[in-house]
Amino acid sequence: MPIRPENRARYPRTWRAMVAQAANRSGGRCECDGKCGTVHEEGRCDAINGLAHPRTGSIVVLTLAHEHGVPLEEETIERMFHACQQCHNRYDAPMRAAGVKARKEAERRRIMDKAGQISFELQCFGARPGRLAPQR
Ligand SMILES: [Zn+2]
Ligand SMILES: [Zn+2]
Repeated sequence: MPIRPENRARYPRTWRAMVAQAANRSGGRCECDGKCGTVHEEGRCDAINGLAHPRTGSIVVLTLAHEHGVPLEEETIERMFHACQQCHNRYDAPMRAAGVKARKEAERRRIMDKAGQISFELQCFGARPGRLAPQR
């Protein structure tokens, strides 16, 4: 998943070195062992960095994926795996959906709070909130 701009500062300074370490460990082959939900025939994804992806056909670019629960600040690659786009996306999809949901919920709450504040102010000034409050 591309690094979200607001999360950039949370990555360790050694991130690039960690990526190099991961590349060393993976040997340029996706390290996914099925975590992503796909059954990989040989027990490991056969996508090779820089070559056409065996399933999608697009050029593979391996990236470092955090296992679930590993904070972005983590400085070792023990609980990370070098992943092709397909495995990385599939692995992150449920988390990403949860993140989108959480951000939407926060936005909804912000709007509702604001609406509540407006309705309160209108009551204080004697207006009828039913007429002026934002439509739900
Ligand atoms: Zn893969
Ligand atoms: Zn996979």
